[in-house]
Amino acid sequence: MPEASSMRRALRGSLSNSATAAVFLAGGQAALLAGGLHAASAHDLPLGDDKITDAPRAGYVFSCQQRFNKNTPGAHSSGDWLGASTWNPEKKPHVEGSVTWPARISIELEGDRRVVRANNLPTHPTGVFPIRRSDPAYRYDRNNGRITEQDILLELPAVPAVAAAPSCVPMGMIGFSLTNAAQYNALDGRGDDAPAHEMQDSCGGHPQERGQYHYHNMTPCIDDTRSQPGGHSDLVGYAIDGFGMFGKYGQDGKTLTNADLDACHGHAHVIDWDGQQRSLYHYHMTDEYPYSIGCFMGTPVNVPGSVSGAPQRPREGAGRRPPERRGGPGGREQVLSKAAAELGVSTETLRKAVGPPPPDFQQASRLLGIPANEIRRALDAARGR
Ligand SMILES: [Zn+2]
Ligand SMILES: [Zn+2]
Repeated sequence: MPEASSMRRALRGSLSNSATAAVFLAGGQAALLAGGLHAASAHDLPLGDDKITDAPRAGYVFSCQQRFNKNTPGAHSSGDWLGASTWNPEKKPHVEGSVTWPARISIELEGDRRVVRANNLPTHPTGVFPIRRSDPAYRYDRNNGRITEQDILLELPAVPAVAAAPSCVPMGMIGFSLTNAAQYNALDGRGDDAPAHEMQDSCGGHPQERGQYHYHNMTPCIDDTRSQPGGHSDLVGYAIDGFGMFGKYGQDGKTLTNADLDACHGHAHVIDWDGQQRSLYHYHMTDEYPYSIGCFMGTPVNVPGSVSGAPQRPREGAGRRPPERRGGPGGREQVLSKAAAELGVSTETLRKAVGPPPPDFQQASRLLGIPANEIRRALDAARGR
């Protein structure tokens, strides 16, 4: 695929201007797609559910978010591709469709920074989102996100340095793919293995609630090319700490597994970096969970909308419920639905009537035509007070 690789060389190298990149992308799109739509592994893959850790650990996601709500909307049922401890990517349905997008992405070296400016609309066709009712994938996942242009501006170190200690990966964007899609970690909103459970299109992507198109593993819609035949994979994107993300082939073309990589899913050796050979840390994408970055070896830049830094734990004895309880027993959802049943209204009606916490009993009374003290009593009883 000469066009795809020349496009990537252009993106990888020092781009003189963004117009060049845009032209290359438009030309490279067909080549990327033609070479990219092949099936993944023929084997079952180990399922990554519950492989979340609060310290760097190979084969796990060192996640900033430590508590997950198992009632978070997402895939709601599963089919025969999912076993007790494995899943089979070949049996899993894909969101149907072939929608093309006006992709705009430029990656430029500006002094000691690498600046990514992008609209996050992928360079390859996507499935139709929201998932249509007629789509077989709808049976498993009712993702009603709509792919939406984002305003991506990442100012990364051109030559990143390894930080004093690895740090956790947030939910949301942890890297950016040369295909103009965000890279997320391996977790879905429930903390489960996202590629195994959620419905993605045939390029492995889907939008989140604000419409950001993203992958949770290596997209099959970029060729895992090697500049040297049988050699190391080429660059496929940048992590938000500035280190490169490469395909699944290591030195001498070895297909990498977790056993070959460190706790953050990378390693250091001589690579082609902006046209120079230098020994530098980098991440690899693999077929094996956690698929991409397990933790940051460098210092991630701030990305609006994602929570990074130290792992977020429930605050013990701080008088606040841990976030996961919101949907669990005794959580707000549960309280609302119990009280609503008691009052003979729908949960949604009660939620709207009382408004955001703290509950507005007078307003609820007016809207529902139920005395305020009755509503208060129903909510207190539902809370077990
Ligand atoms: Zn996702
Ligand atoms: Zn490598």
